[in-house]
Amino acid sequence: MMGNIHIHSTYSDGAGTIDHIAQAAAKCGLDFIMITDHHTLAHLEEEGYRHGVLVLCGTEINDKKHHYLAFGITKEVAANDENPQAVIDAVNAQGGFGFIAHPFEKGSPLVLNGTTYPWVDWQVQGFTGIEVWNWCSQFRDGVQNVGQALYFAYLKPDVPITGPCEKAFARFDAITQTRKITAIAGSDAHDWHIRRGPLFRRIFPYEYLFGAANNCLLLPEPLAEDAATAKAQIYAALKRGRVYFVNRLAAEPEGFTFTVTDGQKTAFIGDTFPLKGGTKLQLFCPGKKGRHLQIKIKRNGQTWYETAASEVERKLTQAGTYRVEIRLKNKPWLYTNPIYVVDSI
Ligand SMILES: [Zn+2]
Ligand SMILES: [Zn+2]
Repeated sequence: MMGNIHIHSTYSDGAGTIDHIAQAAAKCGLDFIMITDHHTLAHLEEEGYRHGVLVLCGTEINDKKHHYLAFGITKEVAANDENPQAVIDAVNAQGGFGFIAHPFEKGSPLVLNGTTYPWVDWQVQGFTGIEVWNWCSQFRDGVQNVGQALYFAYLKPDVPITGPCEKAFARFDAITQTRKITAIAGSDAHDWHIRRGPLFRRIFPYEYLFGAANNCLLLPEPLAEDAATAKAQIYAALKRGRVYFVNRLAAEPEGFTFTVTDGQKTAFIGDTFPLKGGTKLQLFCPGKKGRHLQIKIKRNGQTWYETAASEVERKLTQAGTYRVEIRLKNKPWLYTNPIYVVDSI
């Protein structure tokens, strides 16, 4: 199931209504979208299937730093910029879960005088994951002067997009050495309408971002027609790390698989697998030409194997967290959560 996470609507500072956003998502072939308006849950009543797309509503909490994307809650949680643990705990106390948003930002002198909204407190516990790639934040970081702004906005909007934030992924990898967490890609879609005299430009309309970085969830069963059941399926997959994310501007992920197997049992992305003799890692990118591929398999955050082959099979002799990063035609393309290979007892 493919869906977009981290979207703002007219319930906060986005330009589109939830129905309009769902329509755009349907046009782009998405299965689900996750709305994250700032400091509100008033949009909860709009949850459910719209235009065939499952609309799920969470909220983005905090102002100047420690932005947290919270889901699965029904009561608003007060912002607490200085104590993000209190926010995480309040979300968890309601049975919800959440993601640390855009933890490392460079900022742009053109936008709010370079203001950033970083995550600084890494002592926090109990969050579900990290948004390691935030499309709009990366675009803004890449635009450092007016010339670049015009060039990128009008001609080449994906030039500043270099792939997931390396610092955020490094932080993610470090945490996965002690517990399971989930990496996601966020759009931070607002569909900004910018007017400067006679010039009018929509920066990253919803449709554009729905065709860019999206999250693919591995579900054991098809998404249910009943919205409440479908919501539980999506949330369970996110919590288990059964997620990879893909930049659709480079290519669709059709047929991509990454597994660890011993011939009898098979582990998928997000799973734990006990290492035995004959354990193999397998990866397939069907239909992709080798010369366009740059595949890196990371073990415990370090590059473990690199190849340009569209099919990989490697024997595993060491425990560790194994995840995949792929660039296609020199564009960031596909990034998986780890499979956790552990020593058998
Ligand atoms: Zn934010
Ligand atoms: Zn946001």
